[in-house]
Formats: sequence, C-alpha cells, structure tokens
Amino acid sequence: MERLSACPLNCFDGCSLLATVAGGRLVDLRGNPDHPITRGQICGRGRGLLLRHRHPKRLTRPLKRVGDRFVPVPWETALDEIAERIRAAIDRFGPTAILYSYDYASGGLLTLLEERLWNRLGGMTETVSTLCWSAGLEAQRLDLGGARTSDPALLPLAKGIVLWGRNAATTNVHLLPFLRQARAQGSRLVHINPMPSPLDREADLVVRVRPGGDGPLAVAAAQALLERGAFDRTFVTHHAAGFEAYRAAVLAADRAALLRAADVDEETFARLVDVFATPPVRAILGYGFQRYRLGGATVRAIDALIALTGSVGRPGGGVDYAHTALGESIAAHRITRPDWRRAYRTVTRAGQADEIPRLDPPPAILYVARANPLAQAPQADRLRDVYRSIPTKIVVDFFLTETAAVADYVLPAADNFEQADIYVSSMWHGYIQYGEALVPPPGEAKPERWIVRELARRLGAADAFRESDEAFWRLALDDRMTEADWQALFTRGFVRLVPERIAWEKRTFATPDGRFHFAVPPWAERTALAAEAPEAGGPRRYRLLSVHPRRSLHGQHRFFAARPPAPVAYLAPEALAREGIAPGARVVLTDGRARVEVAAAALPGLHPEAIVVEEGVTPGINALTPSGLADLGRGSTQYEAFVRIAPLRPDERDKTIREEALG
Ligand code: SF4
Repeated sequence: MERLSACPLNCFDGCSLLATVAGGRLVDLRGNPDHPITRGQICGRGRGLLLRHRHPKRLTRPLKRVGDRFVPVPWETALDEIAERIRAAIDRFGPTAILYSYDYASGGLLTLLEERLWNRLGGMTETVSTLCWSAGLEAQRLDLGGARTSDPALLPLAKGIVLWGRNAATTNVHLLPFLRQARAQGSRLVHINPMPSPLDREADLVVRVRPGGDGPLAVAAAQALLERGAFDRTFVTHHAAGFEAYRAAVLAADRAALLRAADVDEETFARLVDVFATPPVRAILGYGFQRYRLGGATVRAIDALIALTGSVGRPGGGVDYAHTALGESIAAHRITRPDWRRAYRTVTRAGQADEIPRLDPPPAILYVARANPLAQAPQADRLRDVYRSIPTKIVVDFFLTETAAVADYVLPAADNFEQADIYVSSMWHGYIQYGEALVPPPGEAKPERWIVRELARRLGAADAFRESDEAFWRLALDDRMTEADWQALFTRGFVRLVPERIAWEKRTFATPDGRFHFAVPPWAERTALAAEAPEAGGPRRYRLLSVHPRRSLHGQHRFFAARPPAPVAYLAPEALAREGIAPGARVVLTDGRARVEVAAAALPGLHPEAIVVEEGVTPGINALTPSGLADLGRGSTQYEAFVRIAPLRPDERDKTIREEALG
C-alpha cells in the first residue's frame, strides 16, 4: 500500500514521496509523480532515507555517559535528570544558560516546538545564521528586499541561463529537466564555477573562474555592459536606487585587474558579456562563492549585474539565489513565541568556537538537535573542546555522531517515516509537502516533539503544549491555506503556498523604498583587488573548497551509506604533477595548525589553485576551515581556507586527524 511521505532533508528540491508499507514495515520509496516540480524523480540521498530508517546502528534507547562510556537508561531517568539540570541552570544563571544548537537536518514544521519550550522557560542562547547561505540572503535582502526564485517552468523564456556556482547536477537535480527543456527551446547555458560539472558537456560556455573571483568577474561584466550602453535605462531610472554611484565606481575600475583576479581570459569574457547583453537572463546562484570574507558583496555584485540587464521581474529572467517566500509565508512565531522570552542571546554557527568562550555567564546546558556541529562547523576540533567544557550536554539524533560522542545524554530520535509532519524546507520552489506517520519508531526512539512535551511537563511548562500536532500546523499555516488547501495537502501530499510565478514581477521590491538597491562593489577599488591576489613565493598554498558531497546530504549519509565515500582531496591534474603527487597517494593537508589525511585524486577541469574536498564525508576537514564571519549576514567564511599539500610520510600517520569511532 502506498502512502504519502516527504523528504525531510535540507535540499533545494523538497521532494514529495510515495512510500510502500507492507506487513507493518516500510519497504519502498519513490517520487510522487503528481508533484509539479519534482515530477516523480527522487535522488540517491532520498532513496538513502530507507537505509537510514532500517540501519542496525540507529539509536534505540536513551544513553547516559558514565565515565568514558555510555550506558542505556530508561526514558524516565534520562528526562527526570535532564529536566532537573535545566531547572538548576535556569535558577542559577537565567534562561540563557541553555545553549540551543540546532540546524536543518529535518525541515519538519514541528521541530519548531523545541524553540517554543525554551521561550516558554524564558529564553535561551541560540545558534543563528547558517553555514550555507547567510551572507547571500542578507545581500538579497539589501538589494531586493528578500530572496525570491521564479518558477523553473519559465526557464525557456530566458535567452541566457547562467548557472553561477550552482552545481545543479549534485545539489538541485530536479532543475536539470527544466534546463534541458530551455536549451532545447534555444536558451544559451553558461556555467561559471571553479569546479567542473557533468553539466559542462551541455553548456554553451564554461567559465572556470578562480575561487573567490566571482565578484570581480561580475564587476567586469557590468563595466562592459555600461560601456556599451547595453543596460536597461527604464529599470535603473524608475525601479532602482544607488545607480549613479554604482555606475561611477564600476566604470572607474581597472578591467584588466578584475579579469586577472577572476582568472578569465578576454575571449571567454567577451562571450560571457554577449550572454548578459541579450536579456532576459536568468542567473541561478550557488552558495559557495558567498562563503568568503566578501561573500555578501559578491552576491550584491551579481544582483547588480542582472538588474542592469533589466532581467529582474521579467518573464524568464531573474537572479535566483533562494526562495525565502516559502518560509516567510509561515507564521512560525505563533509556534515559537519569541514574545515569551525574558532573556536572549545568540552565537553564530560559523563563529561559535570563538563566541561561546566569551559568553558571560557561560552556558550550563547544551541541547543539540538536527545537527552535528562537531563535524560541520568551522574550527570543529577547537569547538569540540568548547562543547566538552559545558557541564551538561544533550544530543538528540539517530546515530552516535561526532557531537553525540561528547554528550552526557544521547536521546534516540524518530525519523520522518515515524511521525507525521509538514515539510517547509525547499529553498527553490513554493510548495510544502506532507508526510504521514507510516510505522512506529524502532525500540524506544521517540519523536523530538514527544521529548519536548515530556520535558515541558517536568519543567512546569505543559500549559504551552496542550494543542495537538494538527493545531500547531494550523497556527502556522491557517492564514495562507483554505480548507481546500488542507484537503489537498493531506490527500495529494503537497500544496503550493507561494502563488507568484515571476519574482518581483511588478518591479516593486520589498526594500524600504520599494526600489532595487545598487551597491558600490569593493572590487572597484584597487586595494580590494590587491587583497584578493594569490600569495606569491614560498610553498604553494591552495584554496580549500569544502563542497557539498555528491552522495550525501552533508555528513548525514556517512552513517548509513552502504558504501561510505572515501575522504579524497581533488586537485587539477597539472597541480598534482607540479606537487609530484600521484593520484591515489596518501597526502596531508595542513594550514600549519591542523592536519588532515586524505587520498589525492585528479579532477580534470578544476581550477589549478583549488583543492576540493567533500564536506561532511571528509573527517576532520573543518579543523582547517576558519571561524571568521563574512561581510554580511554573519555568514561563514569556510572558503577562506588555505592549505598546503604534501605526501604522507609513514611516521606521520598518528599525528593527523582521523575519523573517531562513530558507534
Ligand atoms: S535530497 Fe533533495 S532531491 Fe533528493 S529526495 Fe531529498 S529533496 Fe529530493
């Protein structure tokens, strides 16, 4: 029998699924063919959810640390002790003694109930901003008033489609049929990326930009359009602010220096400019190029370039970075109730290794959910020591992750097939998905919402959790959904929450003055270009790009993949030859402080100044990524990492960071 389900993972695509349940077991998964965007297709990571669901190493009992071991304890014991410690911490230090460290491993709406609990108890210290996209989001908020993506079905109306840093073949697979349809109907496809992609074979132009060179490239292209007069005068006059200052700065910039910074030759550049000069252009942005110190400025420079072409708000055109209209449609605050807080403070996910030690009073409780910061966060090895110093650490998860391994209590969570929820996680389309509770959790595993309700009962906060699950869904969504929508959601598995098909169609933006805002890019200044110049002399340093893995959603699939991906560092073949390293050799990557052992591999087409590793599946790699923040949105600067590479000597093996026992 097939029933409705949904992929909970933090992915552009937000798939609706159909699950086959037989004999009380989940036996198969497929894409829901009725979903207008995902159209019945499902990726390997989605299929992998079945492996996770059934995996023999899933946690099935609450665990308590006793000395250096975990021992199973009854739920009553774990919850009573945790509640007692939370109460004592709040009584002594106030509610901000609770450090709530969470992320987006599941996009279920009722995950918000955790935040409701902390707010009901008076507040918290919360991890904010994301490792993924925060600098770019803030850039689009400043330029446009928010991040909006037009319907992918409108792609054939674009004369040019520029995949700028988005490796859709890995991270946004349901975009591919729309791209191919557009190409078949005459759209030109450009791929700008320091890394090769299978899509390069289908692209009309591939621009192998230097890592971090995207901002200078956008400024150079804008300068060429301005010089030719190939820009939309109506748009810049009637719908924009800041254009004159932007134009003056861009026209004064040194084009040769910009192209040197981007490492793009004149001929490639001329072909690229021709695409931008032929609107409408649809730029589809990735997130890698905003994980830099000037990440926000990079997105602003690309926004400005596309705005200049007059493509924003035009059918087929636009600058697609994300689609936060979906999240903004949801009245999350009615669930989380920030108005209940008496005290509140934040640390960033990217900078927490530096920021937590500065908190006064320090956190007494660490509560981690839907996250594995000790694998994902920058300076993860230092963060491990910081987390260890917190007196009580509680981790809710499916597996004994790196973060769970340092906890005092590990609570086993139910997965998306074992509880009903509404998934609001797509960053690309305007649909929400519904997943039923199909089967019971294994052993004693429980939904996170059950854990929250039990803690609330013990902490005198049960009054905030009287509503049913459906009542909480309706609190958040009733403003946007009719009864017919609810009916459709529960019978078809999805409903469209954001009706607009063309982002900013009226060209009235959500900025304070309703206009698009041009920002003067820092690369117009020679000093900014000098700061971007590659290091000269000494042993060669490479830009370390820790990109989304192909076969895992961050590190999540590492715990249950049938064949875990091996940790590999990819270099351009010419870089490997220059270093005298053979493909397959064991090597050490080091920034002088930390060292990580991997195997070397050749990646033809990769920019020769880059080393690429897959984040999440390369143990210890975040010991090499910096905890500094980007220029906007308190975003991560994980690509401001520079490493040297050397063959591993036999006597070095024990000095490198290797995978810890993961249970
Ligand atoms: S990971 Fe993304 S593409 Fe794959 S099934 Fe989940 S939502 Fe769909």
